[in-house]
Amino acid sequence: MNKLFKIISEIDRLGYKAYSRLKGSYTFPQFSLSFLKIQGDPFAPPSIVRITLKEEQHKYPKQYLKKELEVPLGDFILERFSKGLSQLPKIHGSGNSGVIFVNTNGQQLLKRASFNLDGTAIELNFYFGLPANGRKINGQALIQMLEGLKDVVQNFLVFKPAYAESLKKQINLYQDQEFLRSFLQKNNYIAFIADGSILPRASGQSEKPLKNAVPFKSPESLRITVDLPNSGPISGLAIPKGVTVIIGGGFHGKSTLLKALEKGIYNHRLGDGREFVITDNTAVKVRAEDGRIINNVDISPFINNLPQGIDTKCFSTLNASGSTSQAANVMEAIEAGAKVLLFDEDVSATNFLLRDKLMEKLVVKEPITPFLKMCRNLYKDLDVSSILVVGSLSDYLKIADRVILMEEYIPHDVTARVHSITGFDSNTTDITLSVRSRKIKKWNKSFSKIKAKDQFTLYLNKDLYINLRYLEQLCDYGQANFLAKFIMYLSEKKITGELRDIVYNFWQEINSQGFKILGVEPNLALPRWQEMAFIINRIPDIFITY
Ligand code: ADP
Ligand code: MG
Repeated sequence: MNKLFKIISEIDRLGYKAYSRLKGSYTFPQFSLSFLKIQGDPFAPPSIVRITLKEEQHKYPKQYLKKELEVPLGDFILERFSKGLSQLPKIHGSGNSGVIFVNTNGQQLLKRASFNLDGTAIELNFYFGLPANGRKINGQALIQMLEGLKDVVQNFLVFKPAYAESLKKQINLYQDQEFLRSFLQKNNYIAFIADGSILPRASGQSEKPLKNAVPFKSPESLRITVDLPNSGPISGLAIPKGVTVIIGGGFHGKSTLLKALEKGIYNHRLGDGREFVITDNTAVKVRAEDGRIINNVDISPFINNLPQGIDTKCFSTLNASGSTSQAANVMEAIEAGAKVLLFDEDVSATNFLLRDKLMEKLVVKEPITPFLKMCRNLYKDLDVSSILVVGSLSDYLKIADRVILMEEYIPHDVTARVHSITGFDSNTTDITLSVRSRKIKKWNKSFSKIKAKDQFTLYLNKDLYINLRYLEQLCDYGQANFLAKFIMYLSEKKITGELRDIVYNFWQEINSQGFKILGVEPNLALPRWQEMAFIINRIPDIFITY
């Protein structure tokens, strides 16, 4: 403690560079503090600080100090800490002087670099703008910031009996969500939506629930009841494996239902409305993405006999069409272990989904085998289920194991009625599908400068960018930052090998060891390993092939 204040008094009013002397760790009675990264000037991104509280300092109940509860515990603590920081009096100065900011979760609970449970100690990593007047160190303001931080630790971070109830609620919910996930998996269901869930969001820009929405209500024939360990029995719509088609008039809630399923790969916070919307962890939304690059992907099950004899067993392009992009997205999803594919006709290439009878007759030179023909093959050969919103393509009704009709935002099971009209055809075509994993063989370029501009855009070496908007299951700026760091790591180390192994092992490593392998950066959040593979698929200048 004395050491820190001694340094501050020595560097007070010196040029900003003297702040580099702060680097290191300091022990206070209530916590220890480390300056991990010192900004070079007041206008640079703020410095990075870690505070660590041992068990006897933070006083959180022992039963919650478990690695498997790190995410919900961390979320609770980050929320408190962030609230405390936001109430600190403003410190004025040049540039980022006085900024104290910690990254927290949105509606989805993610593993984040801003919180780490290290044994029974808790660590918080956050931004700390070292204060200056002009470019001169303002030691007085720094002391004020540290005093403020001490207050926040005392009043918001250290456990209080008053937190017990809400913390318990949060942990209980998380345990129930995880229980439900494994229950569904064991019982061959791919998704569940609890009765009473609120699926629509406040707007296209907000993940918050829509007010006064119609609560979800399951059709009786597809309803199951699950006895959750903490909150007891819960009932809702359970979707079994196979092919599920969602139909309904425009504006009746089809896309909203599918979007909820897309995000059901995450656990949502209390009050979100999607607390018990749970989807198979590997489910991937597959959409058209014209303009994307494709790097040696076998899209031949869907696309063959392209003009000029272009090979589709190992297909590459810098500018994919709607249908080729969607075909690649399907094949890459399967390569990345997806057991469920989610489609919405709103964002699909029509010619990828279907070709109608008259066109079949008229256009003989058609390279595309529509998904309709492969959908049941995927299930039979690879155990990959599909959930499709196809309100206007009646051909899909015939191949569906179940048909759900959305009416006024309420689902109805119309399978029997539909099949009495269309019949049911579970036949497969004679193409046999297989899962093939490509290998990264060479990094032709080093991507040493990758930056996530926001949640949706990665800049590569300044002149190239990758649009993440079509990876619709990403949900956090921290995930984009993570993907940027991940690619930098791979390309700097020139890591080669089987794509699936590389991403999965890296993901596992972060999961068990935390983010330190990526350096000090508080704004990182762990995506799925699927999205980590998908980002590699969108990078130019890697040699990746079967
Ligand atoms: P579709 O895909 O069937 O055309 P959408 O899912 O896009 O319909 O929904 C249309 C509109 O209805 C959206 O603005 C959505 O927010 C709203 N909506 C969806 N579900 C509900 C609900 N349960 N309660 C109230 N509004 C809803
Ligand atoms: Mg729609």
